Amino acid sequence: MWKWGRLVYPVPTPSGRPTLPSFKWLKGNIHTHTTESDGDDTPENVVRWYRRHGYDFLVLSDHNHLTLFEYAEGRRRFKRPLMVPGEEVTLSIHEGRTPIHLNAIGISRVVEPIDAVETVPTIQANVDAIVSAGGIASINHPNYLWSFDHSHIKNVTGASLLEIYNGHPAANVHGAPGKAGNEDIWDGVLTGGRAIFGVATDDSHHYKDFHPGMSNPGRGWVVVRAEALEVEAIVDGLASGSFYSSTGVELADLESSSAAISVRVKPEKDFIYTTAFIGRGGHTHAESTGLEASYEPEGGEGYVRAVVRSSSGARAWTQPVFLS
Ligand SMILES: [Zn+2]
Ligand SMILES: [Zn+2]
Repeated sequence: MWKWGRLVYPVPTPSGRPTLPSFKWLKGNIHTHTTESDGDDTPENVVRWYRRHGYDFLVLSDHNHLTLFEYAEGRRRFKRPLMVPGEEVTLSIHEGRTPIHLNAIGISRVVEPIDAVETVPTIQANVDAIVSAGGIASINHPNYLWSFDHSHIKNVTGASLLEIYNGHPAANVHGAPGKAGNEDIWDGVLTGGRAIFGVATDDSHHYKDFHPGMSNPGRGWVVVRAEALEVEAIVDGLASGSFYSSTGVELADLESSSAAISVRVKPEKDFIYTTAFIGRGGHTHAESTGLEASYEPEGGEGYVRAVVRSSSGARAWTQPVFLS
């Protein structure tokens, strides 16, 4: 059973009751391109790829375009993946300035990008525009062209999500000497007192030629705990941190509250799994090897989140529990 931590940061509360008699774990990709922007396949074929690979929901997030996809009526009516409306609100590089991209998830209309010149005001203006269009905002690939980091993001209010993994080869997710990786940027934002949840995404563009240098589907996803496969439940689950992110590690169980965080991994092949519990400043409070791990916060950690690292290189990240 999932238990909610006491949230002391200003984050949205889940719309459902804290404990529910039943729920589902639903897998989805929330960053996807098609021929409606710079992807190399049609919305129909992209949706087909994700259906064939077992995804429950999908956000088509074309650049500055709301791609609405509806299943055809007929005998073979598909229910998966559920289509969640989305757009990548995109300010491209221009006049020497860095690109700023934000995913708008669950929007009811297209969001026009706003250029407020400086980095933080531009991110903030577009987050606000996304929220006023009925969506939640994800801050995408901060290390794409080394655009910005936690020193900027911690000054932005109202963004729900931050990409801690992006499958595009130009996303520089691992950082470099003197450059924080995406996961370190996340800890920097959390340590700065801003509640934001970490997502893994494909940022898929290429569906025909599969190669490490291409941005192919299937590299990063989220698994949302929701009452039903419905748009509102998925968006609420993302907004409230009721999900984990993955690049290949599957969790069999996850319990998360301010009293205890515990994970159980679904094993694959002979991979060995190490789970670390991380708090303020990116500090590792505990680490153990095996299929199960748990941690009882002492209260001074600021926040605690778990990351499961597989010997294969894959990861799963749980969302932080905030402590007073
Ligand atoms: Zn982008
Ligand atoms: Zn993108």
